[in-house]
Amino acid sequence: MIYPAYRNRYLPAMTLAEIRALPNKQHVPVIIGTGAIEQHGRHLPVAVDALLAEAWLERSLALLKPETKLLVGPPTTFGKSNEHSGFPGTIYISKKTLRRQLLSIATQLHTWGFRVMRVLNMHGGNTAVLEYTLSEIESELGMSVGFLRADVKMEFSEQEELYGFHAGEVETSWMLEIWPESVDMAEATCEFPVSLDDPGQLRPEDAPATFSWASSDLSDSGVMGDASKASAEKGKRWMEQGSRSLAEAMENLAERSAMTGS
Ligand SMILES: [Zn+2]
Repeated sequence: MIYPAYRNRYLPAMTLAEIRALPNKQHVPVIIGTGAIEQHGRHLPVAVDALLAEAWLERSLALLKPETKLLVGPPTTFGKSNEHSGFPGTIYISKKTLRRQLLSIATQLHTWGFRVMRVLNMHGGNTAVLEYTLSEIESELGMSVGFLRADVKMEFSEQEELYGFHAGEVETSWMLEIWPESVDMAEATCEFPVSLDDPGQLRPEDAPATFSWASSDLSDSGVMGDASKASAEKGKRWMEQGSRSLAEAMENLAERSAMTGS
C-alpha cells in the first residue's frame, strides 16, 4: 500500500514535468493539512492531530467529483504545542517556526503559479498563528487563503462541550473510527479541569474573559474531557458527517476558484 490514497491530487506524488504541465494553476486550490505531535493522555498516540488531518483529507477527497480541480500539498505534522510541553512525547515547534513554515509553503506555491490555498487545521494551538500568517500571505503575496472546516453536529454533555478541550470524547471517538488498534480504552480516563456546577476561575474559551492554559496545570492524565464516553459508532457517524461537509466546502471552493481564482 502506498500512502496516501489521494495520490492523483497529491502534489508530492507528482513529477516536475507533471506539476509544470498542470493547466490553470492560478485557479486550482491547494489544501495544506496542519496537525501536531503532542501528548493525548495515556490512551491515544501522540500523533492524533497529525493523523486526523490526514484522515479527514482522505475521507473528504474520496467524495469529490473526479473532475473537480483541487490539489493537496505535503502535510505539516509538527505544531505549536508548547501548552503540552510538560508531558513526554510532545514535540512542538515555536510560533515563529510555524509562521515561517506556512509562509515558505505559500511563497513556493505562489512561485509555481498557484494562487489559492486553504488550511485544514486539526490543532487548536496552531489557530492564532495560522490566522495571522494567512492574512500576511494574503496581503504580501495576493493569494486567496483561509481555513477549511468540517461542520459536524456532535451531541454530547454540556460539561464536555464547555470543558472537553483535549483527548476526550471527540478525539478518542475519531481515533476509534480511523485506527482502533491505536486506542487503549482500558486507559481512557475522564478528567475535566473543573466541573460544570463549580467552574471556579475557569470559564469556556468564548467567555468575556478568556484564559490561556498549560495542560499540566489543568490535568494530571493529560486528558481534558471524558474519553471513556468515546465510541467507534460516534466516531464513524461524526466523521461521515464532517467529511461530507468538507467535501462540499472543497467543491464550492474549486468552483469559485475556477471562475475567479479565489
Ligand atoms: Zn488533539
